[in-house]
Amino acid sequence: MSELKVEQIAVRFGGIQALNEVDVTVSGGTVHGLIGPNGAGKTTLFNVITGLQPPTRGRVRFDGQDITGNRPHVRARRGMARTFQRLELFDTLTTRENIQMAAETQRRRLPPGMTPDAATECLMEQVGIAHVADEPTDSLPTGLARLVELARAMATTPTVLLLDEPSAGLNQHETEALGRVLVRLAGDGMAVLLVEHDMSLVMSICHEVSVLHYGEIIASGSPE
Ligand code: ATP
Repeated sequence: MSELKVEQIAVRFGGIQALNEVDVTVSGGTVHGLIGPNGAGKTTLFNVITGLQPPTRGRVRFDGQDITGNRPHVRARRGMARTFQRLELFDTLTTRENIQMAAETQRRRLPPGMTPDAATECLMEQVGIAHVADEPTDSLPTGLARLVELARAMATTPTVLLLDEPSAGLNQHETEALGRVLVRLAGDGMAVLLVEHDMSLVMSICHEVSVLHYGEIIASGSPE
């Protein structure tokens, strides 16, 4: 199973030490929560892991291999996918088209008999957005648009999935459904790293939690 490891990561922006000596390991089959107040460095850590932000110090390892110098698309090809706190959808395309776009990239990796179109329909059902399949995503409420991003990330068949506040904009019922999807993905062997402010979601689905505060991990372990 996949393993994502960040070791001694530091990032400095001018006078701000956004991250300092951060160690986090996310194992396949688990949901790992990353929590902390605004400005703690959570998104910066996601950017380091996905290759958008070079670290000042430290290493990122994916299945034991050092990927610190890899470009984002190389990491994506290796099986890393993410969603963004500020949504990054193709706004004028429909829900279905946004997901198809990602599913098409996996055409050769899909199981026999499965097409990108069929995979797209399955994902929309799984995430609960089939009823807005034909809606342009710029007309969707934020919560639903987040689920489109989640389905699009899942369509790339990742082994490591990073989610930046996926429940923001969802009601309680939708949040619980999201939690069930994430637990199922981990059950299938995926490593899920979840930045989330909804503590009841974190406490109910995470196997492990790391707490960031002013760029440093101040606690990690089981939610309890
Ligand atoms: P939030 O929960 O509000 O999204 P966060 O935990 O994701 O916060 P980051 O966005 O990673 O925190 O920010 C960590 C610190 O780094 C903050 O002080 C922020 O202002 C600063 N920072 C982030 N990106 C940059 C940048 N590109 N240039 C300068 N400072 C930055």
